[in-house]
Amino acid sequence: MRTGFIFSLLLLFGISKLTAQNCTTVPYQQEQLKNNIGLAEKIREIEEFTKQHIAATARTEGTVIRIPVVVHILYHYPSEKISDELVQSQIDVLNKSFRRRNADTVKTPETFKPLAADVEIEFQLAISDPQRKSTNGIVRKYTPIAKWKMDDAMKFSSNMGDDAWDAKSYLNIWVCKLDKLAGYASFPGGELSRDGIVLDFNAFGVTTNTGYGMGKTAVHEMGHWLGLKHLWGDENCGDDGVYDTPKQASYTPGCPTGIRITCGNGPNGDMYMNYMDFTSDACTNLFTTGQKARMRALFEPGGPRNSILSSKGLNPPLINEIPIPESDPQWLHPQLYPNPSSSVINLDLSYDPRWVGKTIQIVNLQGQTVMLVAITTTTMQVDIKKLQAGVYFLAAKKDDGESMKMRFMKL
Ligand SMILES: [Zn+2]
Repeated sequence: MRTGFIFSLLLLFGISKLTAQNCTTVPYQQEQLKNNIGLAEKIREIEEFTKQHIAATARTEGTVIRIPVVVHILYHYPSEKISDELVQSQIDVLNKSFRRRNADTVKTPETFKPLAADVEIEFQLAISDPQRKSTNGIVRKYTPIAKWKMDDAMKFSSNMGDDAWDAKSYLNIWVCKLDKLAGYASFPGGELSRDGIVLDFNAFGVTTNTGYGMGKTAVHEMGHWLGLKHLWGDENCGDDGVYDTPKQASYTPGCPTGIRITCGNGPNGDMYMNYMDFTSDACTNLFTTGQKARMRALFEPGGPRNSILSSKGLNPPLINEIPIPESDPQWLHPQLYPNPSSSVINLDLSYDPRWVGKTIQIVNLQGQTVMLVAITTTTMQVDIKKLQAGVYFLAAKKDDGESMKMRFMKL
């Protein structure tokens, strides 16, 4: 039974036409389902809970839900150490979009305006961390990793990312350099240590980046984090579980105009200006009342996001510490000294512990390998007494493709 169910879920989420530049939440979800046997069942339960509690959300109409946010900035290059202002610009876009206070609400077609909703959800940078210490809700961390994949490594300090803050109390946002994708979100029901959204630097905050510079990728991913599916239900004319979004055939690239009729959704056509399509930032401008109910149902008692309501993240801190500004790391690369040397050379690879376990080749000018040395620690000595006097190259390669090649002279 369970196998059959997982199979049908895979079909449900299994669309292969996603463009690389866009949201990859659906393929991410597929990966998670493969790796976590109980997840499909949990997602089914949450879907059932959501359906049963949509009507109950009328009870909390008029009450704003405030979500404490922590932004983990994983920077490799100095330019990626983005400012507090840029972070705040993203939070502002989220709030305007979820409160329907965005200036572009005027662009919502007249026929869809009656469906548009103020979701009454707001986002604020945390002022108390999980230990109730003062914080500005922004963590900046140098990482030796230059580019990340959709494998959640950025969510773990042990992988040179940064651990999530307790996801029952905080929304975690990781901002890092993603390899050919704009962002992805975890759906409610996944592992707490992986819960949150991940965004590429290019798709974060208000910037001059074409197509993704208006902060709407975060709005879209936040929709997923709050249980929304893509409008087309990730299959041809599929169901997104929302009663007031029209059925549509598939995603919308770019920035269309006019009425586009698919799946018999005339006369009004596709709602491609909804945040849960793939339309460019400049052309999305609404969530509907039905989407609002789906998102808010998760906060009902017993729901997967209910614990956020009792978070202390926005309460004044109990421990006021003036954070010591983090000193900039040196933009390190492998270092070798002294050079020239007659007996030993010191190798300092402390900027990236992933060198440990790799092998160094020492090559002479004729291209012959004359010595192999295993890297056992990040700062080590290499005995070169046996080498004849002359010029040599020291070379090694890491799994991520980074290689080192340094020249030294044996006296
Ligand atoms: Zn998406």
